Amino acid sequence: MTNEEVKKLADQYLINTYGSRNLTLVRGEGTHVWDADGKEYIDLFSGIAVCNLGHCHPAVTQTITEQAHTLLHVSNLYNIEPQVLLAKKLSECCFAKKWFFCNGGAEANEAGIKIVRRYWTIKGMYKPHIITAEQSFHGRTLATITATGQPKYHKGFEPMMPGFSYVPYNEPSALEKAITEETGAVLLEPIQGEGGIRLPSPSYLKEVREICNQYNILLIFDEVQTGLGRTGYLFAHQGYGVEPDIITLAKGLANGVPIGAMGCTEEVAQGFNPGSHACTFGGNPLSTATALTVMNELTKPGFLDKVQKLGDYFINGLQELAKSHSKIKEVRGRGMMIGIEFDEPVSPLINQLLSQGIICGSAGPNVLRFLPPLIIEKDELTLALETLQKALGVLGW
Ligand SMILES: *Cc1c(COP(=O)(O)O)cnc(C)c1O
Repeated sequence: MTNEEVKKLADQYLINTYGSRNLTLVRGEGTHVWDADGKEYIDLFSGIAVCNLGHCHPAVTQTITEQAHTLLHVSNLYNIEPQVLLAKKLSECCFAKKWFFCNGGAEANEAGIKIVRRYWTIKGMYKPHIITAEQSFHGRTLATITATGQPKYHKGFEPMMPGFSYVPYNEPSALEKAITEETGAVLLEPIQGEGGIRLPSPSYLKEVREICNQYNILLIFDEVQTGLGRTGYLFAHQGYGVEPDIITLAKGLANGVPIGAMGCTEEVAQGFNPGSHACTFGGNPLSTATALTVMNELTKPGFLDKVQKLGDYFINGLQELAKSHSKIKEVRGRGMMIGIEFDEPVSPLINQLLSQGIICGSAGPNVLRFLPPLIIEKDELTLALETLQKALGVLGW
């Protein structure tokens, strides 16, 4: 089908939640994708931080193929070998020693919110309230839009879930003031993604951890976007030297096969018992076998060092570029999670880059967002910098 034909059917048959889209991508390989009309692009967005190993990574494709020939799905009434191997691998890689699997980021956060409430109930305490940050993003279910500290996601869906309050990000004193006897957890993205690629100040996450300890409150890090190597660390919190009690993962975990995960300490895991939570597809053989392969690739010696090194190269290049373009207010990022804030909406720039063969996105109206596949090489980043410069020139920016 041509792009026009696909677009026509999309407009006719899909509920219009994404607006009218002009591009149809039909094939990918590594850092490259092709549209229905045969045009080639460099993908600097990875399907929103999902295809961290690039498109159709050979090891991932092999695992999916083998697993499809072996066993796609059985219910969680039975043991699932790749599921336990994935949980073991994840436990070896971070503080969390117990895992629950689901289908995506919002579901992972739902599991995190639910285990917090039940953990305190079991302890005989009424502490169901969760404090989150303004500009945060935690998903689109009713509980996770409530957790999301951006009024635009709430509009028209009221009433919101009780038990959430919001504080400005990067202000430990505001967090401390918001705590009540009923506060059970603080939920934060270590780096805010959808909210505009906002980085924590160097001491912020440590101070949050100390406040949580002091008031006997659990700390949840939503690493749905920052996790799985995106920031040059396997999990962003490891780059900041701060451990939460609960972590949520999704996006990059199986490189495009739907999966989510909520991990926690042995202590917090006591919050769930048989029957307290479940998910039909969660942790099925296909998704967990694929995720295990992804984890094995990400933890190969030198992989994350290269992400850090090339991330620095790209960010430095963008900062250099910013010096000669006054419309750029700030370049922010860590590893391959990068935002460029402009003093006006970036949609014309995204379209200009698209016509020049580069796919990227935004994070809020004025922030251009790059989430390149972690396997990208230096020459492609150099090309991206040159193309961005050209695109800015065309727009007169
Ligand atoms: C994308 C995202 C989510 C939601 O994930 P879904 O898989 O779309 O439900 C939650 N939190 C963060 C930080 C995200 O970036």
